[in-house]
Amino acid sequence: MIAENLKKIRKELPEEVDFVLVSKTHTIEDMMEAYNAGQRIFGENKVQELQDKYPEMPKDVEWHMVGHLQRNKVKYMAEYVKLIHAVDSLRLLRTINNEAKKNDRVINCLLQIKIAEEESKFGMDESLAQEILKSDDLKDFQNVQIIGLMGMATFTDDTDQVTREFQKLKRIYDQLKVDNPNFETLSMGMSGDYKIAITEGSNMVRVGSAVFGERSYN
Ligand SMILES: *Cc1c(COP(=O)(O)O)cnc(C)c1O
Repeated sequence: MIAENLKKIRKELPEEVDFVLVSKTHTIEDMMEAYNAGQRIFGENKVQELQDKYPEMPKDVEWHMVGHLQRNKVKYMAEYVKLIHAVDSLRLLRTINNEAKKNDRVINCLLQIKIAEEESKFGMDESLAQEILKSDDLKDFQNVQIIGLMGMATFTDDTDQVTREFQKLKRIYDQLKVDNPNFETLSMGMSGDYKIAITEGSNMVRVGSAVFGERSYN
């Protein structure tokens, strides 16, 4: 079932769209079914779970941290994490830079932008993103690279609203890209809204339940 779902969704994605399979709460067995069907990019939203799964999966898996990240947890995954999607402050970037440096790496990051019209806890507005990207601090961070933006639309059946929110993020992305030649990734779209996200210009989707089925949190 997992392999079939993957195949079906891949067919719907244009070739330039990266597919992050969000595997939080799902077993290594289920993840290996996806791996054996060709999936290589996996996303987790908790560092502890990522830590538990990392040694159990093949070494060519590309691990993405898609969830909110606390600074004191960065060190645990700094050795291998490929992309951090939800950076929401300069302080967090500083920590990521320090931990990346200890591991002699450059860690790619996305700034999370708040686009949901309803109140959402995480993410920054456009002006703070602008400020961070222009800051002298960032120039000193040799071991982080901001390669784009991430956003989450409101969880709603109102497709007009979701479309508006994704359009807003795409507009901000295009604007910031002008002065940030490193920009190449716009991470938007989940199981319920990835088709809209692609239409609106996403080039990276984060999909979990459409492949694995509904999560059960026990
Ligand atoms: C869980 C999660 C996803 C995937 O959600 P689905 O609805 O299962 O596709 C995507 N992005 C983030 C940040 C998540 O936490």
